[in-house]
Amino acid sequence: MAQDCLFCKIANGDIPAQKLFEDDDVFAFWDITPQAPKHFLVISKKHISGPSDLTAADEQLIGKIFRIGAELAKENNIPQFRFVMNNGVEAGQTVFHIHLHVLGGRQMNWPPG
Ligand code: AMP
Ligand code: ZN
Repeated sequence: MAQDCLFCKIANGDIPAQKLFEDDDVFAFWDITPQAPKHFLVISKKHISGPSDLTAADEQLIGKIFRIGAELAKENNIPQFRFVMNNGVEAGQTVFHIHLHVLGGRQMNWPPG
């Protein structure tokens, strides 16, 4: 757990969130400022700042984040969705603890903003 990391605190239960799923490795919750009718996040319990900080040791974990994201989308009636993982301020990252956005329930545009 990283000091002063919002998502470490959420994964740890120190800050409440609208939880969708939790196991030993990952935690999923609804985004507090949804950018689509359905918008949730899947995070690792382990603190990883973002995609740039992934190592070979995290391969299974990152695969699980994607699998859980897809399974939760199905369970929550989101058959079509977009996965987004921002890396760095310019890319739109505001919380520096790795997270997968799962967005759905509306037509998505391309290119993304
Ligand atoms: P990013 O901009 O990719 O770093 O995404 C961070 C996301 O975390 C944003 O979509 C925020 O709305 C969301 N967020 C920030 N604080 C909370 C919170 N306390 N509970 C749920 N989602 C949050
Ligand atoms: Zn963290």
